[in-house]
Amino acid sequence: MLQESEYIRNLRQNQHKITPQRLSLIKYICDNEGHFTAEEAFTKLRESEPTITLATVYNILKIFTSSGILNTFEHKGSRWFETNSALHINFICDGCGKIEDIDTADITPLIRKVRESGNTFTSGTILMRGYCKKCAKSREDHH
Ligand SMILES: [Zn+2]
Ligand SMILES: [Zn+2]
Repeated sequence: MLQESEYIRNLRQNQHKITPQRLSLIKYICDNEGHFTAEEAFTKLRESEPTITLATVYNILKIFTSSGILNTFEHKGSRWFETNSALHINFICDGCGKIEDIDTADITPLIRKVRESGNTFTSGTILMRGYCKKCAKSREDHH
């Protein structure tokens, strides 16, 4: 997980000024260990930054995702973001909606495959769905 200072440095490298709104978003990103949507970040940030817009939030998130320091994926019609920018499995529970990170070294050969085709890998996620332990158990209990 990156520190706030690394996100700030990234903004500077991309010629963006460090504004209070941008700092609040960086703080939100670093405090948020899991997965979030731009709308969720916007709703939370609006409490302390009433003039912030959803477009501003999207723009900054886009800078970070194109730099490869924030991961992004589509799920349930929304764009999701997460600080885990290493290639990993996002396991989505169709019962409770929880998204769990599953990091495994077995993914390394997949990255190698992508690179062998001449592509540059920055970040990514593999979506897998099913039921978490808790939901699988309660489904069993109902049968
Ligand atoms: Zn579940
Ligand atoms: Zn994840």
